[in-house]
Amino acid sequence: MLASVLETYESWDLRKVAIPSRSRLYRLDPIGIGTPLVESLTGYISRLAEAHCVNSGVLMEKELATLVNKEFGSANLHRIYNYTTALNGSGVMATDLVQALEKLTLRDDLCFLTLLTWDKLFPSRNLLRSVRAWCPSCYQEWYEKKQLIYEPLLWSLDVVRICPYHHHQLIFECPHCHQKNTTLAWRSRPGYCSKCGEWLGQILSQESANRNALKKNELEQRVWVAKAIGELIAATPYLNDALSSTAIALTLSNWVEQIAKGNIAEFARQINIPRNTVWLWCKGRNLPSLEALINICYSFGVSILSFLTEETNNLSLSRKLVATEVKTTLRTRSKPFNAERVKSYLEVLLTNKESPPLSMEEVARQLGVDRRTIYKHFPDICRAISARYVSYKKDYHKKIIEECCQEVRLVAFELHNQGKYPTESAVSELVSKPGYFRCKKVRLALREANRELDL
Ligand SMILES: [Zn+2]
Ligand SMILES: [Zn+2]
Repeated sequence: MLASVLETYESWDLRKVAIPSRSRLYRLDPIGIGTPLVESLTGYISRLAEAHCVNSGVLMEKELATLVNKEFGSANLHRIYNYTTALNGSGVMATDLVQALEKLTLRDDLCFLTLLTWDKLFPSRNLLRSVRAWCPSCYQEWYEKKQLIYEPLLWSLDVVRICPYHHHQLIFECPHCHQKNTTLAWRSRPGYCSKCGEWLGQILSQESANRNALKKNELEQRVWVAKAIGELIAATPYLNDALSSTAIALTLSNWVEQIAKGNIAEFARQINIPRNTVWLWCKGRNLPSLEALINICYSFGVSILSFLTEETNNLSLSRKLVATEVKTTLRTRSKPFNAERVKSYLEVLLTNKESPPLSMEEVARQLGVDRRTIYKHFPDICRAISARYVSYKKDYHKKIIEECCQEVRLVAFELHNQGKYPTESAVSELVSKPGYFRCKKVRLALREANRELDL
C-alpha cells in the first residue's frame, strides 16, 4: 500500500516560465479598425483614461508628457486644447502621440485612428475641424443597444457634415450648456460634454431633424460624401502603399483626357475650378484638398476610393448633377409678385432664430423676386432682416479671425519643431487663409507664438 502512494506523486517543473512583457497601460482594443466608423485617437485616449479611472487630462499629463518630447505636445494639455484636433491628423503631433501610446499599450495599430496614413495624399490644412462634432442619434443608439460609446474619426473630418447613417447634420454645440467642445479636453469622455458633463445622446425627433433640413440635393450630396469618406477610411489599413499622391495627378490627367480630350481649360470649366489650379494638380505640382477632390468625384459619380485605387473609365458628368443645375436656373427666374406670400415668408424668416441668417439677396433669390421690389413693399421687415445678417457677419468675421490666430500659432510651433524659423512669409504659406495676415490680430498672434517659443 505504501508503495502505491509513493508512485503517484508527479514531479514539478521548476524552470522559469517565459512571461511576455507587460504594457504599462491597458492594451485596450481600438474600436472599428477597417470600418468607416473607426475610433479617433483622441477618443481612444478618453476611453483609455476612463478604463484607468482618471481624467483624460491626468492620463496625458502623468503618462504621456514624458514620452511626447515637444513643447506644444501633450505635456500641457490645457495649453493645446484648441489644437488637439491635430492629434488625429497627419502631422507631427499625431506621430508623437501614436508612438508614445504604442509604447505604453504595446499596440502597433494606433496610427489607423489618425489620418497619418494620408499624410502624403491630402494637404493637412482644413482636413480636420477645430472642434468636436458628433451624431447624437449614434450615441443614443449605441447606448440603447448596450454597445461601447466612442468617438469615430469620421466625425472629425471637416468635409463630413452629416451622419451617413442617420442623415442629419453633425452637432457642434452641447444642447445643455450651449458650448463647443475641443477635440480633447481635460474631462473628455465619449458621449458626454466635456464642459458640463451632460449626456449628448438623443434620438433626434422628426421636428428637430427638420429644423436642420437641407435642400434635398444638398443632403444627397453630403450623405454621398460622408459615405465615400467612410469607405476610404475603412479601406486605408489594407491599402498600405497603394495610396499615393502620384495616383491623384495621373487619374486627374486621365479624366481630363476622357472628358475634354486633354483640354485642361475645358475640363476646369466643367468642374468649375480655375484652369491654373487644375493644371497644377495634373502636373503633380499641387495637391487638391480632400474637399475639392471629393466634390470632383461626386460630379462624376466615382467614389474617392475608386479614384485613388482603380482605373476609372467611361466617365460622364453624372445626370443627377446636371438636373440639379437646371432646377436651380429655373428657380431663380422671376415669378409674378405675390405680396401676401412674400410678407408671410419674410415674417417667418424674422421669427426663425435659425443660424446662419440669410441676406436679403439670398431671400430675394429664394423667393424668385427682385430685391428692390421686396424692399419697396416691406421696408421695415427687410431692414430688420438685413440688420440681423450684418450682425451675424460681424460675429462670423470675428470668429474667423480667432480661428486664423489659432492656426497661425499651431503652424509657428510646427515650423519651429521642424527647425525652421516661423517668419510671417513662411507661416502664411502654410495657413489656410493667408490673406488674413492683413489683420493686426493675426500678426500679433504670430508674434505671441514666437515669444512663447523664445524667438
Ligand atoms: Zn448617426
Ligand atoms: Zn455641455
